[in-house]
Amino acid sequence: MTADEFRRHGHDLVDWVADYWESVGSLPVRPTDPPGAVAARLPAGPPDEGDGFAGLRADLDEVVLPGMTHWQHPGFFAYFPANTSGPSVLGDLVGAGLGVQGMLWATGPAATEVETVMLDWLAELLDLPARFRSTSTGGGVIQDSASSAALVATLAGLHRAGGGAWRTSGIGDTRYTVYTSTQGHSSIEKAARIAGIGDAGVRQIEVDPASLAMRPEALRAALAADVAAGARPAVVVATIGTTSTTAVDPLAEIGRICQEFGVWLHVDAAYAGAAAVCPELRWSHAGLEYADSYCFDPHKWLLTGFDCDAFWVADREALVAALTVMPEYLRNVATESGAVIDYRDWGVPLGRRFRSLKLWFVLRWYGAAGLRDHIRSGVALAQRFAANVAADDRFEIAAPHPFSLVCFRLKAGDAASEALLARVNATGRFYLTHTRVNGDYVLRLAVGSPQTTELHLDDAWSLISTTADDLVR
Ligand code: PLP
Repeated sequence: MTADEFRRHGHDLVDWVADYWESVGSLPVRPTDPPGAVAARLPAGPPDEGDGFAGLRADLDEVVLPGMTHWQHPGFFAYFPANTSGPSVLGDLVGAGLGVQGMLWATGPAATEVETVMLDWLAELLDLPARFRSTSTGGGVIQDSASSAALVATLAGLHRAGGGAWRTSGIGDTRYTVYTSTQGHSSIEKAARIAGIGDAGVRQIEVDPASLAMRPEALRAALAADVAAGARPAVVVATIGTTSTTAVDPLAEIGRICQEFGVWLHVDAAYAGAAAVCPELRWSHAGLEYADSYCFDPHKWLLTGFDCDAFWVADREALVAALTVMPEYLRNVATESGAVIDYRDWGVPLGRRFRSLKLWFVLRWYGAAGLRDHIRSGVALAQRFAANVAADDRFEIAAPHPFSLVCFRLKAGDAASEALLARVNATGRFYLTHTRVNGDYVLRLAVGSPQTTELHLDDAWSLISTTADDLVR
């Protein structure tokens, strides 16, 4: 492809994406075709000769769009949001065009240094403890996801707990243990499996039934029992904004217990961390000064396209010591000078894209004020919806809702609530998901799209409320 051809087709596809964003709200939020329908629309094999871009745009409309779950749709209230934005997409475009592979500072000085500074900017924006800044003992790095952050934190925790013995011999006969609440994300168990600890080493600590936050005294009891039984606690994962209900674990109390037992504390704020751009929502981060590592996903609620997890450590030496391996072919003068960061030592993959460009573009385009507006709008819309639910005595709110997720159910019970969700989703106008809270089937409505307005929330409530008329008559 010549530069001119790239320019022409590139402009055309930028138009296609812009048109998509303008029209996505009028499409059904989820596809209706059965499994296999998209694959059936594709040719059986690749073309023998390159067939250029002729027809590609039509294929995007006819093959791809009908098979899309539209995460950018203003009626997408499922899971947690994963919203992108113009500046994020343009940052990714530039990163793709530059095609740099920034495994070492030497292979990507700009990729490395922009990433370091963006993570420092983000730390300032969220008012994270000073220890997390690269100008102090710590620093930040972009991981693909909060799941990878949990794995990396687990490895750092294992290194702290097992030292050189873990590095040279692995788990061996030592019974390492990992702690999170019953509401902790599944990625913590997965990280324990990958790290060789296994499901048997994961302790799910009970939560308070009202707040759904981890009970610190139960954590202390579990740690003490394991230590007495000869196990070696490796990491405690506390959550700010659990996946089911956005519960917030009491970090300060958990942190003091971790200090007492010398255990690595990782704080998973995958979704709710973004809220800390707003000073009035920073209460959720109280006690973060005890954490050894912390992550949140700008790709969830901060207008940065997937994938972009921001992960910080308070002591970068501890992380690098756990992960670094230096083969001859990577040796270089800059690394040996000790004056640079080599991000290959901060995560699992060696190779790395220039992902910080999209963060840089987003931060410059929106500024702190624009990002705060985005978060505040999501919170206000969710609270507006929650007020409607609370005012209707056929419904009950199932959990505290300090951010932009509302969990609710029909008092009529699980079957009615499940039927309500199915009927609402079947309209194709909105997409909600479910969870269980204290055993009850609960609907989750999570707001996050910059396209979502009061009108969408009021329409959603009107649909939910009239559907309930039918179900609980
Ligand atoms: N942690 C929490 C609290 C989450 O809610 C999620 C996803 O929703 C994750 C971790 C995993 O996120 P990722 O998709 O970035 O791995």
